[in-house]
Amino acid sequence: MNLNLLTVQKIQRGAVVIHCCTSPDNGERVNAQIVETPNRLVVVDAMLLRAHAKELRAYADSLGKPIDRIFITHAHPDHWFGIEFFQDVPSYALAETMGELQFMAPIAIGFHRSNHGDGVIDKAIFPTNTIAEGPFEIDGIGFRAMKITSAEDLFLLALDIPSIQTLLAQDLVYNKVHLFVGQLDQKGGTCFDGWIAALETFKQTNYALVLPGHGVPTDASVFAENIAYLNRMRELVAASSGQNFVERAMAAFPDYELRSMLDMSAFFLFKPQQ
Ligand SMILES: [Zn+2]
Repeated sequence: MNLNLLTVQKIQRGAVVIHCCTSPDNGERVNAQIVETPNRLVVVDAMLLRAHAKELRAYADSLGKPIDRIFITHAHPDHWFGIEFFQDVPSYALAETMGELQFMAPIAIGFHRSNHGDGVIDKAIFPTNTIAEGPFEIDGIGFRAMKITSAEDLFLLALDIPSIQTLLAQDLVYNKVHLFVGQLDQKGGTCFDGWIAALETFKQTNYALVLPGHGVPTDASVFAENIAYLNRMRELVAASSGQNFVERAMAAFPDYELRSMLDMSAFFLFKPQQ
């Protein structure tokens, strides 16, 4: 089909085709992944803006296979708001993400409606099923669900397909797009230590294909690269305030894209001082 808004990169691995669907910058350049198995589609995340999620659904429908289910990997709006267009298919998230969504939804909807107006949902639509860690099978393809705590969000779901050495990492990693580092824990602590620790556990893996939540598909080298970014960013956050932080981060990582991600991190990190 002709795409007006999204860009799609198709990657064939064995009996599976991954369609990495990317929103434009006003949708935070977020990726939703469509895993096409021989007879089914598995959608991972749903985008932020209504226009993008609607086109994601139209693209999935154009593939001519039933959507088996959609996974929402975490509670950040750029990954779940678009569930609005997938209400007719089974949706899954970690139990912890369900709890986080109950708490976060009104804040997230208010924040994004102030930026995007009617371009985003006006009331929360929650996933309907929980997914636990461990292996499962869809259409003869083996997947594993992994729970990652205290990283880019308080809880992240990552999925892998061992038979094709593929990790659907989503926001565990970003590829050359500024990482969102504005998630605080319940005590107001920053994300850095937990996120780096999580990445360290993935560093020795040999995934041939890693699908990030933002940025183009990559490989296992992204773990070390994100660790280096977060280490440097932790120093910059400690030594900065507000917009000063954004300028310094831009200078420190000239080859990373999407300044608006830094603005959003600054909003959450430095809000009390502004
Ligand atoms: Zn994201």
